[in-house]
Amino acid sequence: MLELQQLTVAYGQARALWDISMHVKQGELLCVVGPNGAGKTTLVNTLAGILRPVSGRIVMEGRDITRLAPHRFCEAGIALVPEGRRLFAGMTVAENLDIGSFLPAAKKRRRETLDEVLQLFPALKARLPAPAGELSGGQQQMVAIGRALMARPRLLLLDEPSLGLSPIVVGDMFDAIRKVSAGGITIVLVEQNVSMAMRISHRACVLELGRIVAEGVPEELMKRPEIRQAYLGV
Ligand code: ATP
Repeated sequence: MLELQQLTVAYGQARALWDISMHVKQGELLCVVGPNGAGKTTLVNTLAGILRPVSGRIVMEGRDITRLAPHRFCEAGIALVPEGRRLFAGMTVAENLDIGSFLPAAKKRRRETLDEVLQLFPALKARLPAPAGELSGGQQQMVAIGRALMARPRLLLLDEPSLGLSPIVVGDMFDAIRKVSAGGITIVLVEQNVSMAMRISHRACVLELGRIVAEGVPEELMKRPEIRQAYLGV
């Protein structure tokens, strides 16, 4: 579904991703893990069209989208849940969700998509009229994911959805991500919570210093001593 070909991304002179090549299959849940500063956020922001690569290509469903404007990435079926959620705190939950469906095709199906989002996150139903800034961290993360789903993406990019949430809420969040995946949406999940991310993912990529250093099925990656030591502390 998505192919990255020799992608290099830099902030000024400082390279953050070096010659990355990888693919995401249709319907797959791929997690990207790695230490702080590895380039995970840079990767998803590039896939969302927010950052422009210095070189390389991004091919979505057979089409080269590398040089498209950011909003065209949405039209191409890609939605990002950014790190830190980036909600409009003073606007209501309903308004935040509506913003996600700004494209005409998504707007037409707004009611139906909202029902699906509320089925996934029933706790949001009673909070629709509340300012998003008044919600708990977990509920705000639900709104951020809901807003991205309102665009009816075929590829969902999640940047650290579990960050700052309590363990119980993290479990619920991973369940919800698994449900979205089971519903047929392809997902790229960036996570610090490696063991949880590996548990729900079909495939994993390990990024270090802007390069992919390992890739494979989670169960097999988790058997490798260097990965266990670096990411699980065992
Ligand atoms: P974290 O988990 O800490 O968010 P990450 O794996 O997502 O880490 P990135 O945030 O993508 O890593 O950062 C990759 C590299 O790019 C780091 O060396 C970082 O210092 C650098 N970097 C990130 N954002 C910028 C920026 N806006 N300007 C300059 N350098 C940046």
